[in-house]
Amino acid sequence: MTDINEIRMGEVAVASPQARDAGLEFIGRIHTPWKTRAETPRQGRLDGPLCRIEMFEPWVAGLKGLETFETIQVLYWLHQSRRDLVTQSPRSNGVTAGTFALRSPVRPNPIGLSAVTLLGIAGNIVSVRGLDCLDGTPLIDLKPDRCAHSP
Ligand code: SAM
Repeated sequence: MTDINEIRMGEVAVASPQARDAGLEFIGRIHTPWKTRAETPRQGRLDGPLCRIEMFEPWVAGLKGLETFETIQVLYWLHQSRRDLVTQSPRSNGVTAGTFALRSPVRPNPIGLSAVTLLGIAGNIVSVRGLDCLDGTPLIDLKPDRCAHSP
């Protein structure tokens, strides 16, 4: 089986500081159908499967008003990613691009961002379509796709 953290031809790893997650609070957990990276879509689709975002206390009250938006942004921590590549070969063919020219999960701070369709909120569960992360991925933030109070 291929190691999901293997280095491909042309990729460059650097000596990065010890990985640490200090300063972030995981406010929930994302439940999706995907158990491995290989089966997870590279980008979410708005006609993709229903996914459930579980909010942890004490943050559930923070969902108030979110139900008025059709599209929301979800930020999550791609917790199984390596973080030390500065160039990457997405197609495993030796052709590389810089990490910051890619939406790869492999980055020094592995934050994922998806705009998803909000289907509903029931208690501490936010149901959406459009995600592309592993089952159990930690949630960093939810926000509307636009400011509710701008003119
Ligand atoms: N839509 C987000 C973005 O653009 O920031 C993430 C895109 S990233 C290319 C999606 C890929 O990340 C998936 O296909 C899967 O291989 C990988 N992935 C998903 N969840 C992950 C996790 N929790 N840890 C590490 N890799 C993950």
